[in-house]
Amino acid sequence: MSTILIDGSEGEGGGQILRTALSLSMVTGQPFRMEKIRARRPKPGLKRQHLTAVEAAVTVSRAIVEGAFLESTSVEFLPGKVIPGTYAFDVGSAGSATLVLQTVLPPLLTSNGISRLTVMGGTHNPAAPPYDFLLKTFGPQLERFGPRLEWHLERPGFFPAGGGRFSVTIFPVPQLAPVEWLARSPIRSRMARALISRTPESIARRQLAAVQQRLAWSPDGCLVEPVPAARGPGQALLLEISTDEITTVFSGFPDRGRSPEDVAIEAIESVERWMESDVMVDEHLADQLLIPMALAGGGRFRTTEPSSHTRTNASIIRRFLEVDIGFAEESSGTWLVTVSGKPHQDAGTAESGPGNAT
Ligand code: AMP
Repeated sequence: MSTILIDGSEGEGGGQILRTALSLSMVTGQPFRMEKIRARRPKPGLKRQHLTAVEAAVTVSRAIVEGAFLESTSVEFLPGKVIPGTYAFDVGSAGSATLVLQTVLPPLLTSNGISRLTVMGGTHNPAAPPYDFLLKTFGPQLERFGPRLEWHLERPGFFPAGGGRFSVTIFPVPQLAPVEWLARSPIRSRMARALISRTPESIARRQLAAVQQRLAWSPDGCLVEPVPAARGPGQALLLEISTDEITTVFSGFPDRGRSPEDVAIEAIESVERWMESDVMVDEHLADQLLIPMALAGGGRFRTTEPSSHTRTNASIIRRFLEVDIGFAEESSGTWLVTVSGKPHQDAGTAESGPGNAT
């Protein structure tokens, strides 16, 4: 198989290009070489989170890799056999553990044995899915493709101390089934949770006050949630909205010295965009659904205007799989994303056996 060459500065130019290439290289068995990794980020190259994702992919698929070191800007990855099993991966910093998990998840969804993964690092980070998004939004929607997932959060991890730890057990299926997310049914519940660890409660109260004022959410559904198990100080605001079919977790994190109200506004504006457009799939779930949809060989969803992450992910997926991913604006702020192609079938690369704990 020839090596796929990927320019890591394409489109969004972030870590997702690398993670998607790792996932699909493991699934398809196709090697790739990537240059200019994370070239559009302020500190390009492999940070701890990305290096852990590369190492996790090497472990799960018995791959050969070149360029796997901190700050490396190019990587060559030659996957071997995907082996389901019990694995543990440690980012070793507050870098996102949820993004490491998402890297190795796709090949294990259709491998021929149950896997149990434990990941350590940050669980509630800016610019990454918080653990609650995996548990309540991404996970349940992924189960609609066929696999079953069981989640367990042992301890949240915030920047800068990290030290979060969660595990997921993956019950795979032979092949993913196509799924659609079109009409949104009425909203059944709303809840705002302000997580705090060794941080003044007043910060959480100010965030929740902003949510009550701007979204007119009932104070009964706005909760301060202390997380005593975390290793260091930290905070996150989670806004959860449920219909019968989907729960979406919108989030805001203290970052770069922003006020509690500014953190709240970030999450509130995401809620407002989603509410105004009458779609099911929010901006972040949109880019994260594309890999399983491409592997299933089809599916459609309505979403808000596709982000640069979504469009870039589509372009990387097309490099590995014979699939069409189309974006059509149906009305102002409402887009239909359609995936069609051949369902991916395991070419016999998966085999069962005990995994390595790392
Ligand atoms: P990158 O910036 O390339 O490392 O990719 C970040 C990934 O995290 C993308 O899949 C984003 O959709 C996802 N992400 C960022 N922020 C959030 C959030 N608040 N909730 C859920 N997913 C997020």
